[in-house]
Amino acid sequence: MKYYSTKSEVIPVSFKEAIFKGLPDDNGLFMPESIPKLSESFFERISEMTLPEIGLEVIKQYTEDEIPTDDLKKIIDETLAFEIPLKKIKKDVYSLELFHGPTLAFKDVGARFLARSLSYFSASEDKKLTVLVATSGDTGSAVANGFYKVPNIDVVILYPSGKISDFQEQQMTTLGGNITALEIDGTFDDCQKLVKQAFLDKKLSKEKNLTSANSINMARLLPQSIYYFYAFAQLNDEQKKQAVFSVPSGNYGNISAGLLAQNMGLPISHFLACSNANDTVPKYLETSEYIAKPSVPTISNAMDVGDPSNFVRMLDLFGDSHKQMKEAITGYSFSDDETRATITRVFEETEYVLDPHGAVAYLGLEDYLETNSGTGIILETAHPVKFAETVEKQIPQKMQIPSHIQLTNLDKKSIAMSKDFESFKTFLEAKI
Ligand SMILES: *Cc1c(COP(=O)(O)O)cnc(C)c1O
Repeated sequence: MKYYSTKSEVIPVSFKEAIFKGLPDDNGLFMPESIPKLSESFFERISEMTLPEIGLEVIKQYTEDEIPTDDLKKIIDETLAFEIPLKKIKKDVYSLELFHGPTLAFKDVGARFLARSLSYFSASEDKKLTVLVATSGDTGSAVANGFYKVPNIDVVILYPSGKISDFQEQQMTTLGGNITALEIDGTFDDCQKLVKQAFLDKKLSKEKNLTSANSINMARLLPQSIYYFYAFAQLNDEQKKQAVFSVPSGNYGNISAGLLAQNMGLPISHFLACSNANDTVPKYLETSEYIAKPSVPTISNAMDVGDPSNFVRMLDLFGDSHKQMKEAITGYSFSDDETRATITRVFEETEYVLDPHGAVAYLGLEDYLETNSGTGIILETAHPVKFAETVEKQIPQKMQIPSHIQLTNLDKKSIAMSKDFESFKTFLEAKI
């Protein structure tokens, strides 16, 4: 399988090259040259298969002979070493809980798969990699945990001092081992600038084998298809005929992975792209005009994106046809007040606790099912305890951080650093 750039200005590359590069040189995004179709026998067996078994079937179509099946199986088993249960909220409405991983959000799936895939390839060449990530919070913790103790890889995380939550800071700074956290005296943009400068410094970049763990990496996207198959597998025959997925969307990677699953033959009947006030894509679906705008802060802040990076992948999948995209996806945008009221109402009606992102997806699904039939599945992308400050104001109940991820060793081990490039460069050069 080769991966082409959506801008088509570079020659297609292997899976390995696509994940090491992250971004093609023409600044497009990588896409698989053809989307593999899964066999009829796979769909006949799917309801008897485990999550890692489904994962292996899906991913091996994309890695082919670049990763032998036994090695890929190990990568998949480690990636999906936590549950992804499908819980019934009420008649026709289910929640796919993607938040049982180490950082309590769905990004764990992609980060863990990317880490293990990079490690697999670098081990075979006996190379040590340095992964650089600038983070405003969630990506850093998913990447730190995803790469923790993965052989051949050092991770350097840059985060803006005083601008992330205590929980996020703990998740990034207490691991130690192959994870180094740099607390930058500056903003998220300063962190991102430092990372960019390091990549532009060709000598440094080559010497240290610098790689990024950016969210547009193919290896973060592909494994997200797996759980669409897995959710579908748990529906009964009647429900399978009308499965509707409601996806809380920010950079639109998660929904792109669902569209890939559909193109692989998964009979999803409809998608809902649900957003907060950052409504660039719902507006596009409505008007056929794509107008990027600055992001607006909301309570579902992992979706505060005004110019979603994966939108070009969606366009690519629909052959640039607005009409076709609109037939497959309905867009929604909801306010913070609507989101808050939904958390309260759903708890009162069902005792299910939604996080703000899941609540946005729930609202879209509820609206859709008023005029359409179907079995709806919302993707619950984060554990509500991650947004306790918002959620606990809406429900008469305190939440607890699940015991398996309670941090025992709370010694913060970050290195304070100024936002000037020379000190960052000196630090990287001194690292062995
Ligand atoms: C990242 C994130 C999203 C948005 O996912 P995209 O793939 O960027 O659309 C939604 N919810 C949560 C909790 C997230 O962390």
